[in-house]
Amino acid sequence: MSGNRLENLWDAAKAATMSEPEKLLYRSNLLGSDKRITNYGGGNTSAKVMQADPLTGQMVEVMWVKGSGGDVGSIKMDGFATLYMDKLRALKGIYRGLEFEDEMVGFLPHCTFNLNPRAASIDTPLHAYVPKKHVDHMHPDAVIAIAASADSRAMTAQIFGDAIGWLPWKRPGFELGLWLEKFCLENPSAKGVVLESHGLFTWDDDAEACYKLTLEIIQKAQDWFAAQTAGKPAFGGAVHSSLDAQARRDVAASLMPVIRGQISALQPMVGHFDDSAAVLEFVNSANMAALADLGTSCPDHFLRTKIKPLVVDFTPANPDVAATLAGLTAQIAAYRDDYSAYYSRCKHENSPALRDPNAVVYLVPGVGMITFAKDKATARISGEFYVNAINVMRGASAVSTYVGLPEQEAFDIEYWLLEEAKLARMPKPKSLAGRVALVTGGAGGIGSATAQKYLAEGACVMLADIDEASLAKTAQNLTARYGADVVRTVHMNVTDEGAVARAFAQAAVEFGGLDILVSNAGIASSAPIEDTTLALWQKNMDILSTGYFLVSREGFRLMRAQGMGGSVVFIASKNGLAASPNAAAYCTAKASEIHLARCLALEGAEVGIRVNVVNPDAVLRGSKIWEGDWLEQRASTYKTDKEGLEEMYRNRSMLKKSVFPEDIAEAAYFFASDLSAKSTGNIINVDAGNKEAFTR
Ligand code: NAD
Repeated sequence: MSGNRLENLWDAAKAATMSEPEKLLYRSNLLGSDKRITNYGGGNTSAKVMQADPLTGQMVEVMWVKGSGGDVGSIKMDGFATLYMDKLRALKGIYRGLEFEDEMVGFLPHCTFNLNPRAASIDTPLHAYVPKKHVDHMHPDAVIAIAASADSRAMTAQIFGDAIGWLPWKRPGFELGLWLEKFCLENPSAKGVVLESHGLFTWDDDAEACYKLTLEIIQKAQDWFAAQTAGKPAFGGAVHSSLDAQARRDVAASLMPVIRGQISALQPMVGHFDDSAAVLEFVNSANMAALADLGTSCPDHFLRTKIKPLVVDFTPANPDVAATLAGLTAQIAAYRDDYSAYYSRCKHENSPALRDPNAVVYLVPGVGMITFAKDKATARISGEFYVNAINVMRGASAVSTYVGLPEQEAFDIEYWLLEEAKLARMPKPKSLAGRVALVTGGAGGIGSATAQKYLAEGACVMLADIDEASLAKTAQNLTARYGADVVRTVHMNVTDEGAVARAFAQAAVEFGGLDILVSNAGIASSAPIEDTTLALWQKNMDILSTGYFLVSREGFRLMRAQGMGGSVVFIASKNGLAASPNAAAYCTAKASEIHLARCLALEGAEVGIRVNVVNPDAVLRGSKIWEGDWLEQRASTYKTDKEGLEEMYRNRSMLKKSVFPEDIAEAAYFFASDLSAKSTGNIINVDAGNKEAFTR
């Protein structure tokens, strides 16, 4: 456990200007901003305050408590549920006993104060029945390590004396709320309680005092572990050494697409790789396999990570990735069988159907941890939760015997009908959810518009480009809109074989694989044939023909290894079909792209890789091509300027319309998505109509 100090960040002057609900928000955000205090989405906070009832004007006691599904670190005022305390207390009168505790959740909306639409969480009674104004419920690794130790009760007493009590494991709900109330009434001087296999409750009648108390208790646990574990090797000491950083990523890049291909039968999964020091210490240790098999303890942990991880058969001292890959199918199948057996052993008559039986967490000795989930944020957060679980196991196994949650209890939480109802309320996934796209020329006009469309439809996007400055700017814009999880960049020249291979490996490590390749990087050149130098000819061929070959080859390799099919979209050009004056090198190279796409459509079909072409024409807005020489040359060929050219192209088109990057992105989306699941070897012209480019 870390012995670092938890800093008291409470600013009394600032807090003095706040209302009680504002102080609750302040305290929650301070607590949640430090992951040593609570994990993402874990724990909740509450305050009981006097407020005027909107119906009667009378002052009534109202509980503000973190609503369902929120995160205390990032919660805003509207994240709190508000409930009448007198009604919450009245619920005790209609409680029919443990067997019926789930029905109490349905009564919580009846207690809502001020028509607040934020749903109250299952933990609401835990806060309501503690007879103190302010209550913090946190999931600090240091306290969960106590809670997950075989002798957690004795340890709690040893560390905290009478100040902090202890309650045995009980699934959160109405009954646990009553237990807490009973404990408080019987132990009026107690400041909090450790819940076995779960976490910490602390309380006070003053907001600031409650915050300080929570810090103090967690600090005490951290310090105690630091003293107990000083000088002791964690997890029985290391039995493996880590590969070097690049080799770790290389192994992950090989493993992740293969794992992804085998676990995406229900929905495409997105991967996350973590080789932080805490992870490496665990995966390299003597006790890793045995501890991992015990499963995680805190319900928060295993709801995200599944009860246990899959330990990949890999020996870093004698790395044989091919052998590991060859054995993966059997390992993954064994995990699925094991999980299905757990489901069959524990299910009740009314349990929801078996969910995805695949592992979420994959531990690789010497390499790190891979996690997979339905989207990137969930995959990352699942990994963070397993790091919490590692911290807990480190602490508990150093001072005691680490114990996971009993299997039936774990099952009853995982397949809880209330949990199932929460899942059923989730919005329908977007059309590209779980898909990974790599867009070459992703920093350009058409590339970034395509990336934006894919992100809006739920995909993760790797932007690959030769222009680092534009790449950074594009990534910044897209990240601001869609979040940092789903956008990655890689500096890549499509003509550089090694760089292309590295970019695809990067996509595999960052997102787990690849579903969509948009080959779009390009330039344009214009010159009469007599003035076309060999260098100019070669440049067009290198970037547009050879470059498209290199990225397709690498994309095919990755998609084939993954075994999930895929979609390759070439952004070629109307000029690849229709001859154009003074641009022979460009037109010929673009024609080569189109024919390459047809050849690849033939080769890819048997493994479900579709290859299609989008042909833009005259996309002036947003395109860097139309800023440089090409603009001047085209303008001089047609004896006009940029505006004149735009006008000329519009008038030249059959539909008399300008074509924009977003129009190309729509076609690139059609070919990337399942809308075109039955199309390969096709071409869509997005040129506002040009009979020279009609396909024959
Ligand atoms: P753009 O210049 O805005 O984008 C092209 C991107 O490709 C740029 O970010 C550039 O840095 C990148 N790039 C260039 N050479 C590269 C290399 N060797 N390796 C990696 N990246 C490289 O232009 P755009 O209009 O968005 O063009 C995208 C594609 O559409 C190109 O293939 C182009 O030929 C094609 N196209 C465009 C038009 C049009 O009118 N804009 C018409 C027909 C076809």
